[in-house]
Amino acid sequence: MSEQPKTRLATDLIHAGRIRTDLDENAEALFLTSGFTYESADMAEAVFANQVEHFQYSRFANPTVTMLERKLAKLEGAEACRATATGMAAVHAAVMCGLKVGSRVVASRALFGSCHWIVSTLLPQFGIASVFVDGGDMAAWKAALDQPTALVLLESPSNPMLDIVDLRAVSDLAHSAGAIVVVDNVFATPLLQKPLELGADVVVYSATKHMEGQGRVLGGAVLGSKKWIEEVFQPFFRNTGPSLSPFNAWVILKGLETLQLRVRAQSESAEKIAQFLDSQPKVKRALYPTLASFAQRQLAMRQMSGGGTLVTFELHGGKEEAFRMMNALNIITISNNLGDTKSLATHPATTTHMRIGAEERAKLGITDGTIRLSVGLEDVEDLLEDLTQALAKV
Ligand SMILES: *Cc1c(COP(=O)(O)O)cnc(C)c1O
Repeated sequence: MSEQPKTRLATDLIHAGRIRTDLDENAEALFLTSGFTYESADMAEAVFANQVEHFQYSRFANPTVTMLERKLAKLEGAEACRATATGMAAVHAAVMCGLKVGSRVVASRALFGSCHWIVSTLLPQFGIASVFVDGGDMAAWKAALDQPTALVLLESPSNPMLDIVDLRAVSDLAHSAGAIVVVDNVFATPLLQKPLELGADVVVYSATKHMEGQGRVLGGAVLGSKKWIEEVFQPFFRNTGPSLSPFNAWVILKGLETLQLRVRAQSESAEKIAQFLDSQPKVKRALYPTLASFAQRQLAMRQMSGGGTLVTFELHGGKEEAFRMMNALNIITISNNLGDTKSLATHPATTTHMRIGAEERAKLGITDGTIRLSVGLEDVEDLLEDLTQALAKV
């Protein structure tokens, strides 16, 4: 694999990581094959002994998936990447691969529902202690990380309240406690925040979201140092099998070509929508990292280069008013996905965050009047008109 030239983001999104076969195809080839063949039994032996580099079996590696992994590593500025079947497969494998009975994990409370379940429910089943902290409270992080800890898991901005965690400060504290820091960077995308530059050790993604970008297939990715990926992650990955389908990798590769254009345009619209919602009397509060009214604005702008494509807002009323508004939307559709070209509205309390329970929701500030918007690529004037007429029915 030849040395890649020093190029910029937009170019990398198109070209980085490509493997071109002897047939000189222009678009990335889809290697829809489970296995690979060997010229001789001797060669198979040499490949399995790691004496010869050769694809073996698509659970371990596949050329289409490898192209995606190489592209993502370049975008993230990471030494190595492994792609996974879903975002949750990425989070689960990244968290579990280095833990054992007696390990201790500290996590920010504001996590994606399934990530929250892994920390609160799954880890304790295996004798792994887990502690949640309020991600914005540095004193709480300090207190939680005053003893040996194996791993810190956090999400910033968080889903759905867009809470920001100080990545640099938490990484420093975590390292003092002996922990590796795993950051779920889905909301920021690789374009708006670089956790590895801020001190994190591992970055995880749901590629289902902005990377794929058009709501077709699931995928995930884990990025980190070559040493950690090879020594800690790869044995777990290879033997437990959360691998990404080559077809899905191929679709995500196509999605990545337009990632910057989409995230830029969708973020611009999201900011306009956030400003609009912030000015509406029927809206109790609007949350968006670049809003003047956003409590953690300074921290957000220090570690992010843009606000992202998600806006969360709270209506004065509760569930009834939120449902009335969502049901009145004509262009924006109701779905729990995000990062799609289509604008989507979610009611977290009854869907994505239903299972964490009312008490935990209250701690996170998710009320029955809270709505999360994933802003798409439609004309922003149409989206504003849609929100205006839906708000009028509240
Ligand atoms: C969607 C999402 C996940 C899980 O990804 P899947 O691809 O659905 O498995 C994890 N974390 C965050 C922040 C997400 O938005």
